[in-house]
Amino acid sequence: MKILGFFLVIFCLSCCSNGQDRLDPIDEYYNKHVGDTLASICHESVSNGSLEHGKLLPYHGNNYSYFDTTSYFSGRAFLHEDVLAFTLKAYKELQSVSDRFYRIMECSNKKGGKLLPHQTHQNGTSIDFMMPLTKDHKPYYKLDKTGVSHYWLTFDDAGKYSEDKSVEIDFEAIAQHILLLNEAAKEKGWKIKKVIIKIELKDELYATPSGKKLKANGIYVVQGLSKLVNTLHDEHYHIDFAKF
Ligand SMILES: [Zn+2]
Repeated sequence: MKILGFFLVIFCLSCCSNGQDRLDPIDEYYNKHVGDTLASICHESVSNGSLEHGKLLPYHGNNYSYFDTTSYFSGRAFLHEDVLAFTLKAYKELQSVSDRFYRIMECSNKKGGKLLPHQTHQNGTSIDFMMPLTKDHKPYYKLDKTGVSHYWLTFDDAGKYSEDKSVEIDFEAIAQHILLLNEAAKEKGWKIKKVIIKIELKDELYATPSGKKLKANGIYVVQGLSKLVNTLHDEHYHIDFAKF
């Protein structure tokens, strides 16, 4: 009887400790910011703009995750509601064409405005996406877990990691993702306004089967960048979306 009582106490304590006060901090943060049901409004431009009623990206889904908890808790993963909806739709669609896991990087502040050190990301319509990688031609995820310092990783002009040439950017996975993002955006009356990727990597992107479709679809991938901006887009691709 004593033993049964002991187990009952442990059971009750564990039930209580798994309650509201022990909610995962990510879930807690998400729950706190998910109540705004008013329609999102983006103002002005990605480089000088603001956002009303921005919606928070769920930290993870079946085949994607946000990349950094500090960034998330600092309120840098907000989007216009339509952008959020079609971004999640594209991840859902990706599950039927790819086994890959994707990571999403910085988005916008809840009310937009400057998101240092980014020059854009000001009105909830810009997203940074982490380059999916392979090592020895197999999906590779170790470098995905470096948090915000991922932005400082460097890749050469053929998409090989500077510290280990057997690690390469998976351009086919990127192109598949962009194509599905474009489709999902169109269904909502939006389009991809601009893809920013290091200029020297465009050849590799367009050489893949899905990259050829990307080019044929006329999705705009930047043709020229300042040296600094070009250098910064070797480990992630940035996309700006706009309404038709
Ligand atoms: Zn960006």
